[in-house]
Amino acid sequence: MSKAGRKMTAQKSRKQNLNQQMTARVLPLRSHNLQESVATIGYQYPGVTSGISIQGTYDYLKERLGGKGAGLVEMAKLKIPVPPAFNLSTSLCQLYLQRQNLPEPVIKQTRLALIGLEKFLKKRFGSTEHPLLISVRSGARISMPGMMDTILNLGLNREITQHLSKRFPDRARFWWDCYRRLIQMFSNVVLQVEHAQFERILQHWRTKEKVKADSDLSVSALQMICKEYENLVENADKKFPQDPWEQLLHAIEAVFRSWNTERAIHYRKLTNIPEDWGTSVTVQAMVFGNLNDKSATGVVFTRDPSTGERKLYGEYLINAQGEDVVAGIRTPRPIHQMKKELPEAASELVKALDRLEKHFNEVQDIEFTIENERLFILQTRTAKRSAQAALQNAFQFVQEKRLKKEAALERVSYDQVKQLLHPTLKATSEKPFVRGLPASPGACSGRVAFDPETALAFARAQQKVILVRQETSPEDIMGMSVSEGILTSTGGMTSHAAVVGRGMGKTCVVGCSELHVDEQNHRAEAFGITIEEGSLITLNGSTGDVYVGELPTEPVTWGDTARKFFQWTDEVASMPVLANADTPDQARLARELGAQGIGLCRTEHMFFDKERIRNFRRMILSESVEQREELAAELLAYQKSDFLQIFREMKDLSVCVRLLDPPLHEFLPKLDDQDEIKVLADSLRIPAGRLVQRIHQLHEVNPMLGHRGCRLGITFPEIYEMQVQALAESLFDLIREGKKVALKIMIPLVMSTEELSYLLRRLKNVFERSLSNADPTPEAQQLRKLRSLVKWGTMIELPRACVIGAEIARLVDFISFGTNDLTQTTLGISRDDATKFIPTYLDKQLFRKDPFETLDVQGVGKLIEWAVRESRAANATLEVGICGEHGGDPESIEFFRRIQFNNVSCSPFRVPIARLAAACAEQKQKNK
Ligand code: PEP
Ligand code: MG
Repeated sequence: MSKAGRKMTAQKSRKQNLNQQMTARVLPLRSHNLQESVATIGYQYPGVTSGISIQGTYDYLKERLGGKGAGLVEMAKLKIPVPPAFNLSTSLCQLYLQRQNLPEPVIKQTRLALIGLEKFLKKRFGSTEHPLLISVRSGARISMPGMMDTILNLGLNREITQHLSKRFPDRARFWWDCYRRLIQMFSNVVLQVEHAQFERILQHWRTKEKVKADSDLSVSALQMICKEYENLVENADKKFPQDPWEQLLHAIEAVFRSWNTERAIHYRKLTNIPEDWGTSVTVQAMVFGNLNDKSATGVVFTRDPSTGERKLYGEYLINAQGEDVVAGIRTPRPIHQMKKELPEAASELVKALDRLEKHFNEVQDIEFTIENERLFILQTRTAKRSAQAALQNAFQFVQEKRLKKEAALERVSYDQVKQLLHPTLKATSEKPFVRGLPASPGACSGRVAFDPETALAFARAQQKVILVRQETSPEDIMGMSVSEGILTSTGGMTSHAAVVGRGMGKTCVVGCSELHVDEQNHRAEAFGITIEEGSLITLNGSTGDVYVGELPTEPVTWGDTARKFFQWTDEVASMPVLANADTPDQARLARELGAQGIGLCRTEHMFFDKERIRNFRRMILSESVEQREELAAELLAYQKSDFLQIFREMKDLSVCVRLLDPPLHEFLPKLDDQDEIKVLADSLRIPAGRLVQRIHQLHEVNPMLGHRGCRLGITFPEIYEMQVQALAESLFDLIREGKKVALKIMIPLVMSTEELSYLLRRLKNVFERSLSNADPTPEAQQLRKLRSLVKWGTMIELPRACVIGAEIARLVDFISFGTNDLTQTTLGISRDDATKFIPTYLDKQLFRKDPFETLDVQGVGKLIEWAVRESRAANATLEVGICGEHGGDPESIEFFRRIQFNNVSCSPFRVPIARLAAACAEQKQKNK
């Protein structure tokens, strides 16, 4: 972690330590072998398991001993100098949290392991002559930096300190410094005394002695500080134990409890670390970087964690303990300077780093201490690094012939792929003012607009805008398209704002239920803070955090290395990734990001342009077929030009166009929009009252289950017919220009073979007729050729459509699962209202994941499996795809690959993630 990052974690941890409370969460009990739950590292002792003797993979070691413990065992095996230690396994964490005390056999083994450590080091815990000092450290299977607790220098007390400082006056400063650190850390972590209170005392003495660094404080000052620390603890009605054994047991329990601090729980939620993993506790002999000027402490990465460059990156402090590097009072020195100050230790360090990177075959991040010129490595772990660095390192390892391409693909996480594509927020200590669902990643700041018109006005005035709505509808599309980001108070991960926001690559936070959005009065409010129109806010679409004011961002990074890396994914994967793209811009982006075609081109947004919407409204509100046909003909030219542009962008790749889908209701004018009503009534040559009546007629109570999808195509045939005609004519034009086109026409929301065959019959006729009309003397051969370029298909979005999959398959060339609607209709959960209770379900673990994000394999997946099996049996050449939001979700993609889908389709910005997921799923299948 960078200095800034560590400093921030430390500050955060201080603040949060104040509220640190153990929430009594009951974790599922795993089997415990209490006799083997303590393991020694770097030494052996009869009656206690030796870490080196534990059989199993490195992953198993991490599961049992935590990352820190496992790393120490590996280093001990490699004979890299580590301070000896013993480890209490992660499974004890669950047991402790349930019982609230340590079982007797564990205490017994801890005592034995401690005796072994004393014998190994020829020191005694609690002795005044040769005291053994230890640290007690947390360590989960995966590192959770700064989230849990660590205490250093245990084993000291006032008597020992006084004795040693008298006996070795030249070390008096050192012993008092160790003791004051122990009181401070122990009292904060175990006794919950506020960290800041200790800092105030320390600061007072620094000022008094006119020094900047703690290492410059005099012995007498340190003695006084210790006294004042002791008083502070006593005044808080707490007791700092003078008995070292008591200190140790309290410290072990506190580290186990720190698994359940609010910040650790929050971090686990964000990073999907399971609740029941637990932390281990490593009790390790202290080595002292604060012993003298030949001692130091530091952190180093084997490669640069921010750029990935192949050079050591790190820093160190002479005469210091770990906390000092973090505290930022003294400026650490860059690691390359160590050669001059501590040459032998520096060369040992370089050798150790090289061995560790080779051994783990991965970039390492290590913590070290030098005690009197002797190097000790305290910790090694896979480096946490930027997305850019992860990508570079994966690439370098393949070039250095350390990794195969297939294995390198696993070195870049899905989150990192997201980061590669979107600007991200720079690390900040600002607190979010409210939080919603992270619907579309990236970060942006802008002025708040509460309606699309204002958004457009701000954009015209060259201002960055964030559109804030209760929820968005297709009518907001223009406002959305000019906004940097979108924030809604309702709606879930597949709500309009989320789907469209992601599609457009906009940062988007939805379902921010604490935010009261008053669109009428142009203001929003949460927790007593009011956001007025025009005020600046910042969205973090990767976490769902919303901040007041403007925060700095970091730019997008998508270069040559990324392009090459993602070519590897295509070499590995057999299931192509297509994109959901509705506009020429989105189509271009989709191609750039490696989509192999368009799997879903939604046509509804093409009608929301100000001019077109009026025509469209006139068409659906008019009462005569002739008038409707006339108006549909006016829309034809627009549609054709939209399609032509998209086809041209996609060149010879296939484009699947979905005929109009959303509820008609969404296109109706608002009843209070008097001007629009008047214009429409006049142009339709009917009285305004009659028009209002017609709007009432078309109004729906439950539009998502109402007048939408292919039902529209049946009740308003002019719309679909016009769309098919526009497609046929576009195709004809392109072929005449000598272009290659692969067109698919898709009918949405089908529930029966009757409605599907009715529509197919009509639409295929229109298609043929349009082709004949396009060229009145077509050569039969050319016509056949055009016909063969078109595939007809349907979306499977209703449980009934799954059940009759075989019958549907006989009528079409392809099917595409619309898993947004299929999830909605199978679970009976409105996708737009889901956020009202899904967070609670997730919190109570009634859902493992949001079913609108990750496919519910157990339920919806069963229906899909059935439908795929039956439909393939009925039509051997049937193409099967998916174009719901799950098409961009790695876990769902693994399922689709397993049941051998022909393709997945997702919004352009998720294409790289889907490509990587498809490749990883392929690998998994192969390795089975
Ligand atoms: C779906 O339902 O999964 C789908 C892709 O269609 P839409 O999201 O447009 O309803
Ligand atoms: Mg749908």
